[in-house]
Amino acid sequence: MKILCPACESPMHIIRSKQISQEVREFVGDCKNIDCGSRAAMLLSFSHYIRLPETNQKNLLIELLSNLSDEEKSKVLSAVS
Ligand SMILES: [Zn+2]
Repeated sequence: MKILCPACESPMHIIRSKQISQEVREFVGDCKNIDCGSRAAMLLSFSHYIRLPETNQKNLLIELLSNLSDEEKSKVLSAVS
C-alpha cells in the first residue's frame, strides 16, 4: 500500500499503525522527502463489500429460501440440480 504525504505528495514510510475499531485503522507515517519531513496520521476505513464473505452469502441464501413456498423451493432445487 502506497501512502502519499498530504503536504508534498511524496511517498510516506509507515512507522506504526493501530486498530481504532473493527472497520478503522490508523497509520502514522514519515514523509520520505527530506525537504518536507512531515509526520502524519491517516485513517483507513472499511467502505463496502465488492463480494460478500462466504458465510454472509450462505445466510442470505438461507433467508431467501426460507421465505419461499414449498412449491417455489422445489422449483429452485430442480433448477440447480
Ligand atoms: Zn511531505
